[in-house]
Amino acid sequence: MLSRELSASQLAQFEQLTGLLLDWNTRMNLTGITEPAEIALKHYLDSLTLLNYLAQAGRKRLLDVGTGAGFPGLPLAITLPLLRVTLLDSTAKKVRFIDEVGRALALDNIRTVHARAEDAGRDDAHRGTYDFVTARAVNRMPTLMECTLPLTKRGGMVIAMKGASAHEETRAAAKAISTLGGELAGIDEVRLPGLENPRFLVMVRKVGKTPRRYPRQAGIPSRDPIG
Ligand code: SAM
Repeated sequence: MLSRELSASQLAQFEQLTGLLLDWNTRMNLTGITEPAEIALKHYLDSLTLLNYLAQAGRKRLLDVGTGAGFPGLPLAITLPLLRVTLLDSTAKKVRFIDEVGRALALDNIRTVHARAEDAGRDDAHRGTYDFVTARAVNRMPTLMECTLPLTKRGGMVIAMKGASAHEETRAAAKAISTLGGELAGIDEVRLPGLENPRFLVMVRKVGKTPRRYPRQAGIPSRDPIG
């Protein structure tokens, strides 16, 4: 599936990424998935389910919040070399891994930020500056909205990658979405070949301004979610 869409050098970059992931994974916990074919499916293809929304993105700016070992941000950066991808995580060693991947794969469209999303959201260098903000497996929706919408540009979009709880979590986040200047744009079901459980992409458009008091201090959005 991947090989039909990607150039030989992009495929080589994915292979290099697998090598680095498996190598670093022997020294730190980056992923529980260690079979290359499974990595391709559950990390790479899963990340690339966002391509439909980003194909026309050109040089726009995407922020991947809680990127961990770089998902979905790294596969998107490899596949869309014009897209400017910022990968943010609060764990320093994960950020170091991504820096190493960037050097080894000569990815000149990525940069990393070692920070809590709440702190980045209060920093004018990041607040309201991203056209797309993505997150996979990071917080429940009410908390995640406070970690993503403040960073999103007006007119931009948060894309939250969710499993079976997507609809329930999104209902629970209605107050957080409106309070933070967002509007639910839709929940799209995506399926990966051979996998039974559907995944969901929750699309939240930034239509207004996030009030200055948000995001609250790091840790508060998860202890005391809006709503
Ligand atoms: N997105 C990756 C993936 O799907 O493979 C990693 C998911 S991992 C379960 C969650 C990541 O989010 C961790 O690397 C953690 O350090 C990071 N994280 C959680 N809360 C965060 C916050 N408030 N700010 C920045 N990073 C955060």
